[in-house]
Order: sequence, then structure tokens, then C-alpha cells
Amino acid sequence: MLSTPKQLLRLSQGQLNLLEKCPRHFQHSYLEKLHSPNSPEHEELQNLGSRFHLLMQQREMGLPIDNFLETDTQLQKWMADFADTAPEIVYPNIDSETFRDSEHYRTLQVDEYLLTVIYDLLIAQTNQAQIIDWKTHPKPPKKRYLEQNWQTRLYLYVLAETSNYIPENISMTYWFVQSPAKPQNVKFLYSSAQHEKTRKKLQQAFNKLSKWLTDYSQGKPLPQIPKGRKVCERCQYATRCDRVAIMQEHDAVAENNTESLINENNTGLLNIITIEEVSL
Ligand code: SF4
Repeated sequence: MLSTPKQLLRLSQGQLNLLEKCPRHFQHSYLEKLHSPNSPEHEELQNLGSRFHLLMQQREMGLPIDNFLETDTQLQKWMADFADTAPEIVYPNIDSETFRDSEHYRTLQVDEYLLTVIYDLLIAQTNQAQIIDWKTHPKPPKKRYLEQNWQTRLYLYVLAETSNYIPENISMTYWFVQSPAKPQNVKFLYSSAQHEKTRKKLQQAFNKLSKWLTDYSQGKPLPQIPKGRKVCERCQYATRCDRVAIMQEHDAVAENNTESLINENNTGLLNIITIEEVSL
């Protein structure tokens, strides 16, 4: 009898972040595809980000971008600021040894998982490769949040695994094109030690996920995060997870707390928002 090949589960950095944040959220969003509509503000930010990505892709492909720029003053400003700040990226001296590709797609199969990455821009030269990622958030998050985000870890890992570059010759740079004064960048150099660390982290995540998926196929949902976490307050699945009552109790307690505690909570919430904004 022929055995049926096991279907690969495709995983992006966003899904790995979700899995780490809350396995039940991963279940609802990814396995069950339950989505609620985004807020108009969120939609607007996403559209703006998409337009900038498209502009940079067209430019890289040598297609005309003047029409784009003429009708969009926001893009015009970002493009002009970025060209001033990073002319080596916008007007590079390209030799025959340099390979540049926008929206560069790679996959890496590990067990029954297919890791997928899309680099906004890949610049590969004889001895080094750079991954560039455009961000259109107003403010860069703290470097340590970016470092821990799966986008950074996975993007570097997949390039090292699918190319001849050693980790020490690979880097990743986030460009925040909307920073108030001028575009800012945050760069990560890679190393063999970090590569091994990511390999272990991925394996741990896969081991857990494989077990959860087996349980799920037998009717057991993926784990929720512990009760009382503030992240549930902003979650679209709070009702489904029966976390609304806890949120209301939490609100009642919070009203009686001191101003300093409220400020402390707000800072924590801002941090959570910042982390989430990283994975577009
Ligand atoms: S409400 Fe809390 S436990 Fe439920 S999916 Fe959202 S974050 Fe996870």
C-alpha cells in the first residue's frame, strides 16, 4: 500500500511570533483562519506601508516610479529622505559581482515544516550578503525587541541555511523610513553562535507545535496563555477564550489603583504594541 506523503505546514516569521505569543491565538488565526476586520487606522497604516514597498520594488526592477511619486506626497518625502540618507542603497555602484533582488522569496524545509521568508531587498556580493527590510512605523522599537523578533532570527537563519555564505558574512538591516528627523536604521550582524541558538529555538518550537497539532487533530485545542495577562485585553479572541470577565475584573481593580501603577501598566502596554508592530 502506498503511504500518503505528509502535508508540509508553511510557517512565516509572523506565524512563529504568534505561536510564541499565544498558541491559542495561532490556532484561531492560522489553523482556523478566524479574522476580524482591522480598524480603519490600521488599514491606513498597512496601505501606506504596502505602497512604499511597491514603490521600492518597482524602482529596483527598473520600472518608472514618477507617476507613483507625483500623486503621493508622503511617498515623495520618504523617498527623498531615504535617498539622502542611504545613497549607497538607492544609487548603488553595481558591478557584475553584485546580485540585487527585491521581494526575494526563499523556503527551507525542516521536518514537516516549510519555513518561508520574503526579503524586501537582498544584496548579495562575493563575500557578503545583506538583507534589507523597509519599515514604515513612525518610531523604531528598541533594538532588543527587534533582535528577539522572529523576523530577524528567521531571515538570517534561512539565508545562512540556503546559501554558501557563512553566518559571519550575513547581516540584516531594518530601515525606518518615517523617522521624524531622517530615516534611521538598525543593523544586525550574524554569527555561527547565533545561528546555532536559532536552530535550537526552532527545533524546540517545532517539537511543541508537532505535539499540539497531534492533540488538536484529536480535538484538544492549543494552550492559552495564563490568565491575567494584559495581552488578552487587546485580543480579538477574548470572548471566544472566555477572558472578557477577567478583563472586567482587572479593570475594576485597576480603577482603584494608584496613578503610578496605571502609568506602569500603560508603559507595559506600549511595549507590547511596539513588539507587535515589528511583524508586518
Ligand atoms: S484571549 Fe488571550 S489566551 Fe485567548 S487567544 Fe487571545 S491572547 Fe491567547
